[in-house]
Amino acid sequence: MRIATITNWAYGATVCLTIAAGFTMVLASNADRLERDAVRQRDLFDQLTFEVEADEAQLTDQARLAAVTGDPSHEIAYNRTLAAIGPVEQRLSKLKDNGAKEEELRSLEEGLRWAATLQDEQKAAIAAIKAGDEVTAHKIIFGAEYERELERVHFLLGRFRYMLDNRSDRAIEEASRASQRLRTVSEAMVAITAVLFLFVLGFVLKRRILKPVVKLSDVVNRLADQDYAVEPPQLSQIDEIGDMAQAVRIFRENGIERQRLERERDADWHVRDLLARMTQRLQGCESVADLFEVVRLFAPKIAPNLAGRLYTLDTRLEMMACASEWQSPHGSDAAFAPDDCWALRRGQLHMPGGDLVDVPCKHVPPETAAAAICVPLTAQGETIGLLVLENRTGAHGPNENAKVYIELMSETVGLALANLKLRDALHEKALFDALTGLRNRHDLADTLRRSLAQADASKTPLSCLMVDIDHFKQLNDRHGHDAGDLTIRSVASALDNAVREDGVAFRYGGEEFLLLLPDCDEARAVERSQLIQDRITGMTLVHEGTSLGPVTVSIGIAIYPQHGPAHSLIGTADAALLRAKEEGRNRIVVAAGAREVQPAASARG
Ligand code: GH3
Ligand code: MG
Ligand code: MG
Repeated sequence: MRIATITNWAYGATVCLTIAAGFTMVLASNADRLERDAVRQRDLFDQLTFEVEADEAQLTDQARLAAVTGDPSHEIAYNRTLAAIGPVEQRLSKLKDNGAKEEELRSLEEGLRWAATLQDEQKAAIAAIKAGDEVTAHKIIFGAEYERELERVHFLLGRFRYMLDNRSDRAIEEASRASQRLRTVSEAMVAITAVLFLFVLGFVLKRRILKPVVKLSDVVNRLADQDYAVEPPQLSQIDEIGDMAQAVRIFRENGIERQRLERERDADWHVRDLLARMTQRLQGCESVADLFEVVRLFAPKIAPNLAGRLYTLDTRLEMMACASEWQSPHGSDAAFAPDDCWALRRGQLHMPGGDLVDVPCKHVPPETAAAAICVPLTAQGETIGLLVLENRTGAHGPNENAKVYIELMSETVGLALANLKLRDALHEKALFDALTGLRNRHDLADTLRRSLAQADASKTPLSCLMVDIDHFKQLNDRHGHDAGDLTIRSVASALDNAVREDGVAFRYGGEEFLLLLPDCDEARAVERSQLIQDRITGMTLVHEGTSLGPVTVSIGIAIYPQHGPAHSLIGTADAALLRAKEEGRNRIVVAAGAREVQPAASARG
């Protein structure tokens, strides 16, 4: 029940009780008045009765005096008294007017009749004395009869007074009792009103207001301190305090919800921050190896419950190969055919362990298939890799947020991987010759600078060998351009094999090559040149079933710093090569005053 209802009811009851108590007090007061009236009436009746008795006694006395003394003055006094008393009816009406009852009046009337009889005798005695008959007068007024009648009058008047007194006493007692009763009722009502008032006051203030308000105040203070563990009191009462408790409960639930959302938002920001940082680091990667390391570090932070592997497509083997892994995943093969993965086939995230039934991938063992999430890494519509994640919590699949993060991560990684591959491809195109796979002239400048600096630092000689295929134009012309390409590739391969261990081979242009051999003096350079000539001459080249015949090369050698300054090293080697050509080809010439080396074939011969 609401406090307002309780207080309204209590107020109504208090007002009713107060009115009733007031009314009862009025009744009690009325009873008092009745009592006073009864007392007053009794006094009046007493006085009137006393007057009647006194009058009778006075008449008797005056009549007797007159009878004894014969003095006329007594007769006069007697007559005056008689005249003053008046007739019986007049005296009766006086008493009747003052509330005497019929029965009482009858008793009085009887007494008064007898008194009237006495008056007749008194008059007779006075008349006898006046007539001089003193004896008769005395007999009448002092006779036994007169005494009896006088006694009767007294008796009747006494009875009348007794009846009056009796009735008055009863009325007084009744009025007194009624007054007392009504006062008691009135006092009880006032007491009930006071108790009711105190009870309502106590109940409302203490039980229904004070206690809950103190509890709610404590809860509100703790909620203000963001302590949402506090339990609001379960007040079932339907009143303002109950409304407040309900409001506090709603406030707490809202607070908890807000905290949860804030936590989610913070976690979201944290993951987005990680994704942003990972993107930055990926952009700074110099190689795919760097990328694999960045993914290995960031992926477990972005999706802590997921172990994983990063696969890249090995275009040579047409296989997905594991490049990086984190948090020790159990499932998924180290290498597998792209068709074994449904994510790669469909080009979108594949999660067989989700709410919907789906086909597990072949590269994942059946026992871990439900926990696997495959995310293809694509760039410009081309699949270049795959993320295989494994849920370590046992739950089926990540929640929607985690899915978004995984997709964002895969997009970022895919893009970065594609950029690195593109950069590697461009780098390769820029620095390596497409036909032979050797480094080209663009890379020569950097490598030469480094090699010269190294030679300076280590005070070791650097050999530069300029190699040119002899009469290549003729071979081209005779066997065709493709045969020429085959020859260039074969010579390049022989050169690369010859210096791979300790030097670098470049395609300098056309059918010319340049070899740099660090820490290599003239003798060893010549020795290596002879080895090269031997290998090339020993090659058997067949193109489309036709033998291309023996291939020979001329080699010009320049040694730094022996044959001049760094900037002219290539020119010096080129000049030595030119001399080798001029001197008949298939020979080795060492620069600047150097001696001519005999052709390998002739040397061997
Ligand atoms: P020498 O013995 O004096 O070096 O004579 P040569 O014929 O080898 O030299 P020349 O400079 O006269 O001719 C080189 C030829 O190589 C001219 C060009 O058509 C050919 N050539 C250059 N680059 C390539 C290439 O990549 N493939 C093919 N098939 N031929 C090339
Ligand atoms: Mg040539
Ligand atoms: Mg040439």
